[in-house]
Amino acid sequence: MEKDKPTLFPFSSIRAGQKEFMKDVKHSVEGGNVLIAHAPTGIGKTVAALVPALQYAIETKKTVFFLTSKRSQHKIAIDTLRLIKEHAKLDFVTVDVTSKQSMCPRAVSIYREFYSLFNEFCKSEQKSKRCRYFTKRDEEALQRIKEEIMHVEDLCSWCASRGVCPYKAALEVAESADVLVCDYNYLFSTDVAEAVLEKIKRSLDDLIVIVDEAHNLPDRIRNNLSSELRMSSVTGAARGLRHTNREVHGNLMELERIFTKLAMEASKNKRVEINVATDFLVEEMEKVLRRRIEAMSYDEFANSLREIAKDFQTSGGSKDETVQRNVLSVADFLDGWRTREKCLRIFSLSQTDNPTLLFKLLD
Ligand code: SF4
Repeated sequence: MEKDKPTLFPFSSIRAGQKEFMKDVKHSVEGGNVLIAHAPTGIGKTVAALVPALQYAIETKKTVFFLTSKRSQHKIAIDTLRLIKEHAKLDFVTVDVTSKQSMCPRAVSIYREFYSLFNEFCKSEQKSKRCRYFTKRDEEALQRIKEEIMHVEDLCSWCASRGVCPYKAALEVAESADVLVCDYNYLFSTDVAEAVLEKIKRSLDDLIVIVDEAHNLPDRIRNNLSSELRMSSVTGAARGLRHTNREVHGNLMELERIFTKLAMEASKNKRVEINVATDFLVEEMEKVLRRRIEAMSYDEFANSLREIAKDFQTSGGSKDETVQRNVLSVADFLDGWRTREKCLRIFSLSQTDNPTLLFKLLD
């Protein structure tokens, strides 16, 4: 048995580099400091980060947030925590979660793509008590999640088979969890972080945060706060609503005309890309929206698209789902365009047959 081996360390020997790594992690969690660690593949970073963090979390009643962007890394973290539990014969609670829509047994594929649509659906199902998964309480399911360290896939199928909402059950247990294995969004998306911390009754001061593969974090945040809208989505949405909603069809045609106007300006200046001011799109849209029979603001237009998508009768037809997808793409983009974050807003002709409007978060 190796001397100085932490009691939670589940392997018989410590690899080169792991001892120093664990010492650094221990000092930073105890001192409330930030540690940026760079180590080669294969030295066992996951276990070396988890052992001292978990030890300190148990001693101080804090919660380790193990944040990762990859399913494969969820699995590695959960398998490592199982080994620690088995080796140390220690009772601690670990919950593995992904996004709410990916854990929902009722989510259809379009909900996985458009969180706003799923969120509306889930909220109204909860409010009206129509979601039987949400209303059912199952102590046995909660107990099992508490006692076993379950991979999120197993947790979801177990809860679904018992008729309980996996996300709700997981977050209920997370209130008393020592470790939460979750996506970057759980902390780096303000809305999600606030909702989750409130649900599990923890504050930022109660957390020990491990960001796995943190070099991916800036790109991930940038992508989450950036978006693009292709002209083909606008055209597709307009065509799809031509016979069912003349007013909104007309508004979408006006948006298509704005694309054409920007394309002419870019071509006139012999540019593939031109900058677009935030107000340009908002004012151009509002100019036409005010003149319509059902006058509305830019925001009301985006909301009307969302309402149409929500009430969409897909009737199982793939063509209708394509229209719904296009309508939601336009609604989400119009919402995002007005973000207060510092963004670069561009009109691009790099795909000549499909001009694109986009905004990209700046560093
Ligand atoms: S409450 Fe749970 S099961 Fe019901 S719709 Fe929402 S996430 Fe899905």
